[in-house]
Amino acid sequence: MKEYGVIVIGGGHAGCEAAHAAARAGVKTLLITMRKESIGQMSCNPAIGGIGKSHLAREVDALDGLMCKTADNSALQRRTLNSRKGPAVRATRIQTCRDAYKQNMQAYINNREELDVLEASVTSLIIDGNTTRGVITDDGRKYYSISVIMTVGTFLGGKIHIGEKSFSAGRAGDKASNDLEKFFFEHPFKIGRLKTGTPPRIKKHSINFSRLEIQHSEIGQPHISYLYDHYGLASKNINQIPCHITYTNKEAHEIIKDSKKLSPMYNGKINSIGPRYCPSIEDKVERFEDKESHQIFLEPETSSDIEIYPNGLSTSLPEEIQQKFLRTIQGLENCEISKPGYAIEYSYFDPRSLENTLETKYIKNLFFAGQINGTTGYEEAAAQGILAGINASLKFKNKEMWCPTRKEAYLGVLVDDLVTRGVMEPYRMFTSRAEYRLRLREDNADERLTEKGFEMGIVSGLRLNLFKKKMDKISLESSRLEKILIQPESKVSHYLKDQLGVTLKRAQSLKNLLKMSNIRYEDITKLDCFGKTVNSDIGHLVANNERYSGYLKKQEEEVHLLEQQQGMVIPEELKYEEIRGLSNEAIEKLSKIKPKNIGQASRVSGVTPSIISLLRIHLKKCSFK
Ligand code: FAD
Repeated sequence: MKEYGVIVIGGGHAGCEAAHAAARAGVKTLLITMRKESIGQMSCNPAIGGIGKSHLAREVDALDGLMCKTADNSALQRRTLNSRKGPAVRATRIQTCRDAYKQNMQAYINNREELDVLEASVTSLIIDGNTTRGVITDDGRKYYSISVIMTVGTFLGGKIHIGEKSFSAGRAGDKASNDLEKFFFEHPFKIGRLKTGTPPRIKKHSINFSRLEIQHSEIGQPHISYLYDHYGLASKNINQIPCHITYTNKEAHEIIKDSKKLSPMYNGKINSIGPRYCPSIEDKVERFEDKESHQIFLEPETSSDIEIYPNGLSTSLPEEIQQKFLRTIQGLENCEISKPGYAIEYSYFDPRSLENTLETKYIKNLFFAGQINGTTGYEEAAAQGILAGINASLKFKNKEMWCPTRKEAYLGVLVDDLVTRGVMEPYRMFTSRAEYRLRLREDNADERLTEKGFEMGIVSGLRLNLFKKKMDKISLESSRLEKILIQPESKVSHYLKDQLGVTLKRAQSLKNLLKMSNIRYEDITKLDCFGKTVNSDIGHLVANNERYSGYLKKQEEEVHLLEQQQGMVIPEELKYEEIRGLSNEAIEKLSKIKPKNIGQASRVSGVTPSIISLLRIHLKKCSFK
């Protein structure tokens, strides 16, 4: 029997990134998934990016991952969110054609050297001592490997609810993974239950769009992959299809309230916690009782454009109630449902049982990534997937495993939050979770990660060259603008005063002007002295660097100070019970999580500054460094 370097279980967003990354690193990899046809399937909304999420997606892209290029080549609509706010919180969102996304993803997976794909269901792992050695599939076959990455999403013990009906399923149309869940009951993992949901899909021909607000793709067509945005390559173009906007109303809310007892979330059938930031319509009506309406985006699902996704209407009410409240909504008066909305409950592993490499603490060479770690969202899954793929490949090569820090990447924030704090509800990324968000912009993920990815063998030479060309262009344009000076009484200076309200008291370079918050790169291109440039495409990046250089320097100093305080290493063998004054609760928590340094210890929930102070005194006394 052939032995693999890495076996990945699951062909969702985490699984695809994990398997492709390990194979890119030159490690023979096997991707096992229940149905080849559903590799890269988007279980819910067919969109990639959005606030916080695009930051993660771009980091996956900077590591040569698949998600962003797949989205760009399947785009039905492109937008920049928060475009009026600063670049740290600006976010690209790509509405994709669900079918094209799957096909493009499958093409990447099927054409990758070193990557085999097998259609089967994994029922258990092969364990030798406390190390995994491979997997066993439902036909009893054994597949051996050095590492296993498990990315089975909502499938572990999955149970779908629609009104009073409930049945076992991984998601609509797929079987649940019950045997695999049972296998883990025999191991010391803490397993919990969470839930999520999806809205009904509506037949497009049954919607009256004539009275609805239309939302077109953005002019300028932002892309989410660096390949098509900063590096100048051309993406595939498919038909751009607009979205429409409508609203719920009092009548719909009354129907939903009156049917509460039929909703499994309120009649006691579902007790597990769902994503607070992506609530069902039942939740919204209950929680925001004063609100008379909620905005609904009617988004296209595919380029064939026959089904519509009503974003904001996730529900598990009976199908006939779904139909009834939908028909009260403007534009949906005669709508027909093609698939009902549903809620799904599933099992997840407490992520505090993971190292920050995503290797489990209880079984060596076993990695967990994606929704099974308590997260929600494609981007969160993909980011964990690529990290697990990288680390399984590094492990195979006997190299030190890697995880970016909180100041290097949103991926670092995500993993650190998961492994130190665990989850109380499905975890999704927000820019507010990152303390260093000026550094972690959507536009500079490649500056933070691409060279590191190349060193680890997962970024191609081709991509590294494209990245270096971009950096050369930035520095050329930056030094060109530094040399162009505007004198206070010149014609250009008067123009600046009249048009932009900027008064120059002394000579200023164009580069310096970009530091001013009311001047954009486009503004200086209109000045007579601007001259000719071959690099206008990266001008906005030069401007971002200039505008934030002062703040970034300040943040750099803060980071340095914090690192000195928080970087104090805690030796793995530290016996917390020997620290005088530490409560039993603190001893138990810290011994379980085994934080690697003071910074990580301070983020463990319930660990107070006084506990940290005792810990630091103890470490200093024992002269641990
Ligand atoms: P998945 O994409 O679920 O992939 C799991 C893979 O594992 C599948 O390929 C499956 O075939 C395979 N698999 C499972 N068991 C086995 C086995 N035993 N052997 C072999 N293969 C196996 N996210 C949002 O951001 N917003 C939302 O509104 C949202 N709504 C959702 C609604 C529903 C109904 C569902 C199901 C999910 C929703 N999500 C939502 C979550 C989002 O789909 C997931 O976060 C994301 O897909 C997780 O990616 P993953 O790779 O971890 O798992």
